[in-house]
Amino acid sequence: MDLYEYQARDLFEAHGVPVLRGIVATDPEQARLAAEDLGAFPVVVKAQVKIGGRGKAGGVKLAHSAADAEAWASQILGMDIRGHTVHSVMIAEGADIAAEYYFSILLDRANRCHIALCSREGGMDIETLAVERPDALARVALDPATGIDLEVACKILTEAGFAPDEQERIAPVLVTLWDTYRGEDATLVEVNPLVQTGSGQIIALDGKITLDDNAAFRHPEHAGLADNRSEDQREVAAQAAGLNYVRLDGQVGIIGNGAGLVMSTLDVVALAGEPYGVKPANFLDIGGGASAEVMAKGLDVILGDPQVRSVFVNVFGGITACDEVARGIIGALELLGDSASKPIVVRLDGNRVEEGRDILQEANHPLVTMVPTMDQAAARAAELAAN
Ligand code: GDP
Ligand code: MN
Repeated sequence: MDLYEYQARDLFEAHGVPVLRGIVATDPEQARLAAEDLGAFPVVVKAQVKIGGRGKAGGVKLAHSAADAEAWASQILGMDIRGHTVHSVMIAEGADIAAEYYFSILLDRANRCHIALCSREGGMDIETLAVERPDALARVALDPATGIDLEVACKILTEAGFAPDEQERIAPVLVTLWDTYRGEDATLVEVNPLVQTGSGQIIALDGKITLDDNAAFRHPEHAGLADNRSEDQREVAAQAAGLNYVRLDGQVGIIGNGAGLVMSTLDVVALAGEPYGVKPANFLDIGGGASAEVMAKGLDVILGDPQVRSVFVNVFGGITACDEVARGIIGALELLGDSASKPIVVRLDGNRVEEGRDILQEANHPLVTMVPTMDQAAARAAELAAN
């Protein structure tokens, strides 16, 4: 789960990371009151959206009075920043910025460790810096047992080219950022910019945190951080129905049993769809016990997606035999009735495949086509989506 900047700010504060005061507002009047509450000007009005580059998009503005803050808030609230609607702003104390640095800790899956990234050149666009001037971005692998203590922090800062007196000021902040990462079970903690003020104070001015959903059970206190408005509504509905669903950007809906099978189904559909410019519309693993009810929930989510033009149901019967799955598909179509209206290509194999195929044959549903192999089924589904 990605957090909003204000939520990251709160977690930073709880772990002793130096931050400035910030108050969330959801309407312009609240923004004015928040600015009055902060008392000193300028304050910064910041769009709260779970995407970077807000500054460039006009979502971060300095305000020199409470009235000013109110005016900026009314302009920023409701704004669309790269597909994300702004539902709230944070009114934050202004900082006197002398230098902007970059620091992040993330999970490096490829190398199976945590890694710290650090640069003297923080501010707007770290992706560009990483591509154009990779030398300016220090990358230090972290031992998960040590994480970042003062010694490791100084090593990171040395590699990023900070002088000893700067290291002395910044290192303790990096330690608190590791405490945040470790303590909250995050997979990303990013501070951009980490600023040095005119008086030499180090402050995390903009923070991004991604929490590890697999560790959610250890953090009941994180439940309150979820905000469904910013998530894909179809994913929210699927999650509520207990489905393992990820929405993608294509036209062929995919249902399968087992994550590995579904992943490879995405691959063959992507390949088969290439000539038509057709791609998988989603990942959906209905798992082992594919009852009619689960199949109906899955089909319902996928068929309700306006971008879907065909569906590929790819099942390998194991513990759940193919005849049960076949009954599940027919049962699901009965449950859905007229709301099922898109062609469905089914490939069944494995345990009790003959019985399963017989059931589908007998039902002879006008939307269902049975295809014997995975490649043929992918080709058929891609073709149907293209027409
Ligand atoms: P982002 O564009 O989404 O990363 O939003 P940031 O919060 O990082 O803000 C973008 C830029 O706005 C920062 O790099 C700063 O240059 C500037 N900025 C943000 N807060 C302040 C502030 O309090 N004072 C000043 N002078 N500039 C700020
Ligand atoms: Mn930023």
